[in-house]
Amino acid sequence: MKTYPVLEPVIGSREKEYVLDCMESGWVSSWGKYIGKFEETFARYVGVRYARTTCNGTVSLHLVMLSLGIGKGDEVIVPNFTYAASANAVLYVGAAPVFVDCEESTFNIDVGRIEERITPRTKAIMPVHLYGNPCRMEEIMRIARQHRLMVIEDAAEAHGAFYKNKMVGSFGVANSFSFFGNKTITTGEGGMVVTNSKSIAARVALLKNQAQPSNARKYYHPVMGYNYRMTNLQAALGLGQLERIKELLERKRKIRGWYEAYLEPLVERGIVTLQEETPGSQPSWWVNAMRFRTKSVPKLALHLRESGVDTRPFFLPMSDLPYMRQHGHFPHARRLARTGLILPSGANLEEKDIALISDRIKKVLK
Ligand SMILES: *Cc1c(COP(=O)(O)O)cnc(C)c1O
Repeated sequence: MKTYPVLEPVIGSREKEYVLDCMESGWVSSWGKYIGKFEETFARYVGVRYARTTCNGTVSLHLVMLSLGIGKGDEVIVPNFTYAASANAVLYVGAAPVFVDCEESTFNIDVGRIEERITPRTKAIMPVHLYGNPCRMEEIMRIARQHRLMVIEDAAEAHGAFYKNKMVGSFGVANSFSFFGNKTITTGEGGMVVTNSKSIAARVALLKNQAQPSNARKYYHPVMGYNYRMTNLQAALGLGQLERIKELLERKRKIRGWYEAYLEPLVERGIVTLQEETPGSQPSWWVNAMRFRTKSVPKLALHLRESGVDTRPFFLPMSDLPYMRQHGHFPHARRLARTGLILPSGANLEEKDIALISDRIKKVLK
């Protein structure tokens, strides 16, 4: 029986050639030509002036917080339905994440509920483009302008997704991507800060490199820094991946289309509800996330697992985690967590795979 993991990296010969080049030249640590190349190519791809590599997407959010001067006493608005890294980055700098419920249809932050959570301490809004579906950026930018707040996009899951005519990662003042092994393109572990601000880019570059300015006396550190660097090996892999991102995204869009087609009978009967695309957007469909109307979703996941189809549950609401428990009205995030599953979505899947996976789902749900 063929089995299907949720995601697998797709790595080609170009990536191997670049990584081998690092190994043969000896430039395997965090100096070398691929770092600058990956940064320049990624910045151009997103449509921003600067990109700075980091060792993962959590750290790149931390660097954004630090470089924007967010700290103790500040609040940042974060969707309640997200990966813990989004809220953790706020906590790392001593600020407080303030959670807003998500929309049941798009799974993204409910823009109609942002303003009621703004206080005099609010410094920023952090939209997260969940599972590759862009947030309602026009609304979010308007609210931010009106209340003089910064916008920080967590675009970890949405490489190559568009809202109107702009790519995600080009709206906020400083934004973050991840290149973890299961993301749309990978460096194994890795992240990127993107921004149009020269001074923010410089601040990120300084802080991620143990605060060692390139022109200063060796071992003179003007402020406390971090080692949050990416290696040349990782950047080589990332550059190779970025050069084929179009093809990977095209396949992801096809996979979404195939799921729509093959699961339609279940959608018609209201048993399956797919994540809805945000109006005016072009999602990247990093994964296919859907809600199921069945007695027990964990049991459904178990049955699918037995038939060779791996799934992942949805995120738990941040407000339910012990170290950041928060009171509030979050019915949608809670319902999604109970009813959602992520289906196999790797860019190596073909139409016959999605047909087979859909058949197995139909068999379990009958
Ligand atoms: C993957 C991800 C991150 C960053 O994760 P890393 O594993 O640290 O690269 C941040 N936010 C979201 C929403 C993510 O999915």
